Amino acid sequence: MGFRGVPGHEFVGEVREGPAALVGKRVVGEINFGCGKCEFCRRSLDRHCPNRRVMGILGADGSFAEYLAIPTSNLHMVPDNVADEEAVFTEPLAAAFEILEQIELNPGDDVLVMGDGKLGMLCAQVLKLTGARVTVLGKHQEKLALIKRTGVRTLLLDDWKPRLFDVVVEATGSESGLKLAMSAVRPRGTLVLKSTIAGDHNVSLVPLVINEITIIGSRCGLFPDALQALAEKRVSVTPLIEKVYPLAEGLDAVAHAARPGTRKILMQP
Ligand SMILES: [Zn+2]
Repeated sequence: MGFRGVPGHEFVGEVREGPAALVGKRVVGEINFGCGKCEFCRRSLDRHCPNRRVMGILGADGSFAEYLAIPTSNLHMVPDNVADEEAVFTEPLAAAFEILEQIELNPGDDVLVMGDGKLGMLCAQVLKLTGARVTVLGKHQEKLALIKRTGVRTLLLDDWKPRLFDVVVEATGSESGLKLAMSAVRPRGTLVLKSTIAGDHNVSLVPLVINEITIIGSRCGLFPDALQALAEKRVSVTPLIEKVYPLAEGLDAVAHAARPGTRKILMQP
């Protein structure tokens, strides 16, 4: 996005200034700031407002800071039984729940989540809540072992044998994932694209036509479902945390987070 400013869009904080009902409360915040006036905002789709600012990504400073400013309408109070280390996952968890806003999953549906990174692990846990049979396909044995502990099936890419799924979620964050994803969807199945990678794809779309595949682009989601799942302990997020740095060591933290295969790095003011 060519963003310049304070990065960071996954956070939990305490309200210091604002409406009296919110001051002192622990909150998380939705990251898209809509204009509030356009047809998308009027339909509660500020995530798609053409004039939106996005915290730490587009036109608004983010959360790698001691203080940040955010519209109160974006805030959600964090239930008391959700720890800070869990609440900070609300935003990516909401992005996983977004899939269930978009497609209907039924118990027994065969779902493949491609990618054993943070988003893949969150998507797998959320989709499993529907009773679907979820398999995560990944490259990293140790990450798959972590995912397996949440009760999801796992499969190492090296052991992949072509087979078909009702739904495939592409969350690899790499360009090479799309081709395999397309080949793993059954005819009339659904392919959910979760990776926001800034590359060009060079794949034939003909198989999608022949097999009548439904493609869903999926990005940010709403927070209430994610907070509720955290409060009810239906998903496990803290195993994703690799290290917590003080904010003063933010540059080290960002360098660490950039290393391939790193789990979540947190910063604390
Ligand atoms: Zn708008």
